[in-house]
Order: sequence, then structure tokens, then C-alpha cells
Amino acid sequence: MPDTAQLLVNDLNPYWMPFTANRQFKAAPRMLVKASGMFYTTDDGREILDGISGMWCVNAGHGRQTITDAIRQQASQMDYATAFQIGHPLAFELANRLVSILPGNLDNIFFANSGSEAVDTSLKISLAYHRARGEGTRTRFIGRERGYHGVGFGGTAVGGIVNNRKQFGNMLGGVDHLPHTHNLEKNAFSRGQPSWGAALADDLERLVDLHHASTIAAVIVEPMAGSTGVLVPPREYLNRLREICNQYGILLIFDEVITGFGRVGAAFGAEKFGVQPDMITMAKGLTNGAVPMSAVAVKSDIYRTMMTGPPEIIELFHGYTYSAHPLACAAGLATLDVYEKDNLFKRCADLSPYWENAVHSLRKTKNVIDIRNIGLVAGIEMASREGAIGARAYDCFVQCFNQGLLLRQIGDTVALAPSLIIEKEQIDRIIEILENVINGLD
Ligand code: PLP
Repeated sequence: MPDTAQLLVNDLNPYWMPFTANRQFKAAPRMLVKASGMFYTTDDGREILDGISGMWCVNAGHGRQTITDAIRQQASQMDYATAFQIGHPLAFELANRLVSILPGNLDNIFFANSGSEAVDTSLKISLAYHRARGEGTRTRFIGRERGYHGVGFGGTAVGGIVNNRKQFGNMLGGVDHLPHTHNLEKNAFSRGQPSWGAALADDLERLVDLHHASTIAAVIVEPMAGSTGVLVPPREYLNRLREICNQYGILLIFDEVITGFGRVGAAFGAEKFGVQPDMITMAKGLTNGAVPMSAVAVKSDIYRTMMTGPPEIIELFHGYTYSAHPLACAAGLATLDVYEKDNLFKRCADLSPYWENAVHSLRKTKNVIDIRNIGLVAGIEMASREGAIGARAYDCFVQCFNQGLLLRQIGDTVALAPSLIIEKEQIDRIIEILENVINGLD
């Protein structure tokens, strides 16, 4: 196991860390070297309770033996195979298995390697689909403020996070945004879906009036916005978006990179919230985080529309060297087996009332101004320090890590999304550490 001595022989400088304050981190590094079940181990041998499933992805807990074995077995049998004009059986098997747990008629699967790639793929499919049906003027995308759709130029453009956008110029043109749904005055401390906010979806009508329906290809939203601090959709909001999209022939894409695979107490957010999108993007929990993989599920009508013209013509000029990578397919199949065998999506639903009560018990904790929850996710928002947005939650993150809890800091919200195997005592422990840390923060 690498220890501090090993660290000293490694220069920390060459590795440019993503979404990290590099100089701050390298002055006081935090290193993980091992993971099992609900826990990480640090390089100095401390156990860290993983309150965020790594990065919202290890839904079945760390180090699942059957997933590890499947990856190992596949690596020794066939390490790599291209997906261009050649197949391998596991890719077809995984596509079939995914279709069997997806809601509605999402019957076709396109594989990629990250949430960002899945999102950009879904945007490209939208354009190609409208073009194939003779509506090639539909090129505009509608995202949402405070949406996160990864870091490709498409995803960054439809996303609504100022810090992710400001450094990167014009990105993808022809994009507009719906308003976000976060409203402390109306909805603070809501349990589950807030009751106020459905009418915010009507803003899509305004955008249709502004741009004309014939220019709009798709609306993309996360059913629950995770990366901007756990924004649970107001009741009836997603249904309303669906209605308006239907009315104007606009595709509705749910970005379920976080909400997929049991996180909100059903296989997908679409099922949990009872709204059928035209496409779902997924990643993270697809392989339990063990091998990078993502996918776009499309409704059968989109696939059928694309399967026209001479059969020897490639229908979609798009794909990745590592689309349907054999190791990822093996990991994905083993992961779906674990979810099914351990009934983890139902376990999440069964545990979520306990989780809700536990996180809302922090209501009276110092500086806490909102608590939001759904499934096994929570966002705890603190008031910002004067002129220092994010500083309080960053301190919370560091101190929790020092006390043995990993969570995610987003502005002045701390997000929690533990693996679906978490036990009640571990939930209690998360709350105990958080309460102690937050009360001690200035
Ligand atoms: N979409 C959503 C909703 C996400 O939460 C994320 C990552 O957190 C992404 C896309 C991007 O995924 P990746 O980091 O795998 O590119």
C-alpha cells in the first residue's frame, strides 16, 4: 500500500487534477488507497465512510467481488474489441438487459464512456433524428439554469453553471435555458418533491414563442439536479415539461447520469417521477463506477426513423473507440446482477423514509438554511459567509474528511448520496459527524 513515504518520492506537480483547486490540494493532500463496502481507507490508514458513493457512482458499494471477478475474467479472455463494424456478445447482452429495466419504449442503446459523452451523443442524435424526418431546422437546444450535463462543449452549453461556462467562449451556439427550480422562500426544508414550482416549466412556452417550435430540437434536464446541490423537481414540473414538449414536437431528454440505477428509489428517475422521456443518458451506476461507461437509451421511434435509406449506409456518423468496451460491458452486466440479486433499487426506496428523517434532523444545526432529499440523496445548504461563497461548505467537507466522512461540496451545499447498501447505523454516523462539524463552523 502506498504510504506517506511513497507520496514523498512522487512529485505532486505533474498531475493536473480535475475540478480541484490544485495548489490548495497539493499543499495539504488527501489520499485514498483502498475501498471496500461503505468505506475508503486513506494512505495513513484511516477509514472514511463514503457518503457520496465515490462520486455518485458506486451504488452497490465498493469492491463487489462479482463485479471485480467479471472484469478480471473478461480482461483475460478478450481485452479489447472495436465496436465499429464488428460486435462482441456482451455489448448486445448489456443493451438487452438495460432495455429490460428502462421505462416505456426506450428500446435502443448507444454506448459511450462518460456522462459527458452520453450527453453530447444525445444532442447529436436529436439533430440527426429531426433531420432524418425532414425537420432539419430543429437545431436549438434548451437546457436549464443550474443544470449539469458534463464538460463536452454540448453539455457545457446546455448546462447552467456559470463557473463551468465562463472560461470557454461561445461553446455550442443556439442554446437557451429554462429557469432553475431552486426557491428557498417557497420550498425550504421540503421533504421529497417540493409543492411549489410546477409553473416554472411554462417558461418553455415563452422560449417557443421567442424562437419558434420549428427551431427547437430538444429539451435536456436532470430529473433531479445533483451537481448543483440536489434540486428535487417540484411536483408536476416534469409532467408539465413533457406536455409542452409533446405539444410542439420537441424531444425531451432526461440526463439520468446521477438519478439512474436506483439512486432515487426506482431504476430511473423517469419511473420514480412517472414521466416518460424520449431519451435517457446514463453513466456512473451503470458499472458501479468500476470501469468508465455511459449510454444513451432512445425511444424505438427515434431508432426506427434513423434506420431508413440504403442499408449499407452508416446511419449515425458517431461513436467512440471505447464504445461498448468489453471490460465495461462485463462490469455492467455483473453490476446489473448485483442490483437485481440484492434488490437494491427497492432497498433504496425502503430506506429513504429513514434517510429523510435523519437528514432533516439537522434542521436546527447552525447556519443551515435548507435541507433537500429524495431517494438516498440529500443536499444540506448553509448560509454563505459574507463575500466568500462556498467557503463554509468547503471547510465542512475538509473537517468531515478529517473526522472520517466523505461528502461533496457544492457552493455552500453539502451533498450526500451513499451507496444503496448503507446500514441505518451508518446513516446515524453520517448525521453525527455532520452535526458536530457544522455546529463547530464559524
Ligand atoms: N450529467 C450529469 C447529470 C452528471 O451528474 C454528470 C456528472 O456528474 C455528467 C453528466 C458528466 O458525467 P462525466 O463526469 O462522467 O462526464
